[in-house]
Amino acid sequence: MRRTALFLAVLIGGLLPAMDAQAAQATQTAIVVSPKRPLNVRAGSAVWTPQLRTLAHGSSVTIVCQVRGQRIDQGTVRVTDQWDRLGDGTYVSDAWIQRSQEVPPCETATAAAAAAAPASIAGTVASGGTALKARTAPAHGATLVGAFPNGSTLTLACQVRGETIAGSVRTTPMWNRLPSGTYVSDAYVRRGATPPPCAAAAPAPPAAPPAAPAAGAGRWVSPLPGFTARPGFRTPNNPKHIGVDIMSFTGTPIRAASAGTVVEVVCNIEAGHSCDKPGSASVGGCGWYVKLQHAGGVATLYCHMVRRAIVQPGQKVAAGQVIGYVGSSGNSSAPHLHFEVHLNAPPTGPYNAVDPLPFMRAHGAPIG
Ligand SMILES: [Zn+2]
Repeated sequence: MRRTALFLAVLIGGLLPAMDAQAAQATQTAIVVSPKRPLNVRAGSAVWTPQLRTLAHGSSVTIVCQVRGQRIDQGTVRVTDQWDRLGDGTYVSDAWIQRSQEVPPCETATAAAAAAAPASIAGTVASGGTALKARTAPAHGATLVGAFPNGSTLTLACQVRGETIAGSVRTTPMWNRLPSGTYVSDAYVRRGATPPPCAAAAPAPPAAPPAAPAAGAGRWVSPLPGFTARPGFRTPNNPKHIGVDIMSFTGTPIRAASAGTVVEVVCNIEAGHSCDKPGSASVGGCGWYVKLQHAGGVATLYCHMVRRAIVQPGQKVAAGQVIGYVGSSGNSSAPHLHFEVHLNAPPTGPYNAVDPLPFMRAHGAPIG
């Protein structure tokens, strides 16, 4: 029953959108090969884009075209960075798809669709201080998938009706869908024209492979291989804790979680204290820390190092390269690494910190 239902959903999903004839001609039916667990269907071409539904092993899918995205190594069919766009504008990794023909790149289909569909509208985040949250659905309870600082420029693909929000620009139930398939409330967006309703714009697939994290984000590794972090991101007891703590031993090498550039090497501590000796729970600051900027707007932060990092601001580092050593400087009562991940950086702040555990798991480098 379940498989029939899914198959029907796929079939309907493949037929309903009024795709232009050119794109429709190019579609082909393929089979999902994922015997261990259902295949995730996502809003974009990377595993950290919102998961929209799943497809059972053996399901048929209608593929429209392919985009380059996150490389998937663990697929059953091939190792690839290609993602298949389905008829309804969603994506699955081609690593799990058995098919008989090559799939054309999406550029052609996108160009045709773009010509047919209204152009997307530019907007500016006018939220005052706090960053505007991007969510998986048009409601403030939906999963947070990103944040745009005040003043950011947005591309608004279309609008849907959702939860009414009273914002600094207007009070409205309308939410803007971004090209990545995520939503921001229109209550905080200043814009010239009104984006078209998403129903009409639905055939227009995401305009580009989502957000840059997909491209060149590279390999991710645990910053402290062999040690695990417990869940600790914004817990009820510690809602301001915007990273996770990985308990370890003084002197253990800390590694860059991915390739990037060193942007900060800082002693962050309450006045009157030193980063060069162990801190305590009563001392403020994250001690000796390093901030790395990675491709795709991702930044990582490594706190409480035993002494100044062995890298310098401006230096390029490779994934897994040692950047410093575990300590207990700053607000720390035992040797550990406090590790943060921020999206849409720079800048970084509590508004764009995400839980490192699912992020690292999604990037093939689980730390907890
Ligand atoms: Zn911490």
